[in-house]
Amino acid sequence: MTEVLTIALSKGRILRDTCPLLEAADIRPAEDVEKTRKLIIPTNQPNVRLLIVRASDVPTYVEYGAADLGVAGKDVLMEHGSQELYEPLDLNIARCRLMTAAPVDQQDIPGKRLRVATKFVNVAKRYYAGLGQQVDIIKLYGSMELAPLIGLADRIIDVVDTGNTLRANGLEPREVIADISSRLVVNKAAMKVKHRSLSVLIKTLSEAVDRARSEKGELS
Ligand code: AMP
Repeated sequence: MTEVLTIALSKGRILRDTCPLLEAADIRPAEDVEKTRKLIIPTNQPNVRLLIVRASDVPTYVEYGAADLGVAGKDVLMEHGSQELYEPLDLNIARCRLMTAAPVDQQDIPGKRLRVATKFVNVAKRYYAGLGQQVDIIKLYGSMELAPLIGLADRIIDVVDTGNTLRANGLEPREVIADISSRLVVNKAAMKVKHRSLSVLIKTLSEAVDRARSEKGELS
């Protein structure tokens, strides 16, 4: 019996960077993933299909077994916080850093509780709890950089790549919370039931990641 594999991916950077890795495993979407409005995309492999979901929903689809595996940023996984997922492979794509940022040269007022705007509420709670610092966390869904500019918050927590977005808004990076890259996540039950096809796929992807790293001179 051929095992059907369902892979959850999100559009944009993750999809663009994951497709060449899937191609190494001879998995190619049957249509243009950037253009199609379909949310279930067949591939050249009759037993492999792709689900297109919101980046922050990938862990949920995989955790509940609606997808056998998926690709999600470490930032998303840290915020999701589930112990119910295997994370067998760092795909070394969509690399960036999860950071705090504040207006350039802004000094904190001693004794004043910081207000921190972020969509990474759970990460923020854990981070400041780890520092033993009490802060007020304000949940935002996007454009975090705006919050300090109009006095909504003293700090933001967001993913930073080049730092251009921070600079364009008069902000500067402060502390690094985590180095981020996209990870392969696998449903725990699927890992048992579909062990053979999943382990072959994980091995092939792992070799493709190593090849890409060695082409970039990251492996000696
Ligand atoms: P940058 O101006 O290059 O620092 O990029 C900043 C914005 O791009 C962030 O606010 C994010 O919304 C987005 N971004 C950059 N890198 C990533 C990534 N690896 N994953 C998700 N979003 C990212």
